[in-house]
Amino acid sequence: MVKLDQFRMETREWLDANCPLSMRTPAKEEEMYGGPRTTDKDALLWLDRMAAKGWTAPQWPTEYGGAGLSKTEYLILQEEMLAIKARLPAQGMGFSMIGPTLLDYGTEQQKLTHLPKIASGEIRWCQGYSEPGAGSDLASLQTRCEDKGDYFQINGQKTWTSGAQHADWIFTLVRTDPKVPKHDGISFVLIDMDQAGVTTRPIGLLSGNSPFCETFFDNARAEKYNLVGQLNRGWTVGKRLLQHERSSIAGLNSGGMRGRYENMRDLATLAKEYIGLIQGKISDPTLRQSIIENNMDQQAFNITQRRAMAENESGDTQGHATSMFKYYGAGVNQQQLELQLKVMGTQSLGWEGPEFSEEEADLTRSWLRSKASSIAGGSSEVQLNIVAKRVLGLPD
Ligand SMILES: Cc1cc2nc3c(=O)[nH]c(=O)nc-3n(C[C@H](O)[C@H](O)[C@H](O)COP(=O)(O)OP(=O)(O)OC[C@H]3O[C@@H](n4cnc5c(N)ncnc54)[C@H](O)[C@@H]3O)c2cc1C
Repeated sequence: MVKLDQFRMETREWLDANCPLSMRTPAKEEEMYGGPRTTDKDALLWLDRMAAKGWTAPQWPTEYGGAGLSKTEYLILQEEMLAIKARLPAQGMGFSMIGPTLLDYGTEQQKLTHLPKIASGEIRWCQGYSEPGAGSDLASLQTRCEDKGDYFQINGQKTWTSGAQHADWIFTLVRTDPKVPKHDGISFVLIDMDQAGVTTRPIGLLSGNSPFCETFFDNARAEKYNLVGQLNRGWTVGKRLLQHERSSIAGLNSGGMRGRYENMRDLATLAKEYIGLIQGKISDPTLRQSIIENNMDQQAFNITQRRAMAENESGDTQGHATSMFKYYGAGVNQQQLELQLKVMGTQSLGWEGPEFSEEEADLTRSWLRSKASSIAGGSSEVQLNIVAKRVLGLPD
């Protein structure tokens, strides 16, 4: 206990001395994922300082660029960062998906090659799973990977590849044997995107943003040592990665402390601002009741996230149960953002222009973005299928 108290004190002092003031605000969407490599001096300084301590990937072993923190130390670090509103210095699929998967399945060479570059923020990754004909039924994927003797050759197309236009490497599920049952002919391969055989085409959205791409492989090359796990056994590795992804989306890694909607305002405070109170209460009883229920659901969810994390000393909360958290977390967040809409009325429909504050426009974008959370990382229906089969053991 004394050791942990000391760790907390030292962490607090270090953060206070080293976190630039401008990094003590929630990162905007474009600053979190996939945006162009930052030129912001404070962001770079913050990244360098945190990476030097191994605190960009606090729980990874030190030899791979982490700090080897225990789960309790990791939570203390998160608490102290949140206390000064310090944003994460780096995030993305390297940290939340491929890094943990390489720790599970990677060879020593793969870990030493890729993990330190993720931890330092040098290399960014994207996910090549979905294809035009393979989304929920991911195992139907067709991107072909052929053994050419001393390397693999890849041909095909991926879609919805978030941040591909800014990524350096892509982790993919590819078909290495088309003649066997579909789950048995898939391999998990890492591909360097800096080659003529890999091109990306951003998919434009109505908002004008292009958060994801189509990614094309045209005789692309991957070295043999970038096969993760065994040939034709990639489905096992790929499923594990999905558990890490869902765990991250559901906020399980941080016991619910960190999430996409960190900038979300408390609904009761918003209601006070936009509707006003009558005798200390939100005047509309239906809205009041909905806000209370959502607050209670959020609290219960957060306690369950913490419990799930505490139940496993290793901090490994990546089993099939992650589907429950992903499913529920998406729903409760969507509900919260819908309530925000009701509270703010037309002010929650702002996009640009002087009649809307920057915060209002940000909240509108968060509301729209939340619609994707029951699709990305596997749709809610698919999560229910997994829970039914793998957690409850119901028949197929
Ligand atoms: C914001 C965002 C980011 C994404 N980023 C990436 C990325 O970086 N890399 C990547 O590879 N993919 C990415 N995706 C793709 C995502 O994984 C797929 O959209 C998702 O798996 C669903 O596949 P689909 O879109 O083909 O829908 P479909 O599989 O066609 O599903 C359509 C509908 O049918 C339902 N459905 C399908 N099968 C079943 C079933 N068996 N039982 C019940 N209902 C079913 C689904 O729930 C859904 O409502 C992203 C998606 C979003 C929204």
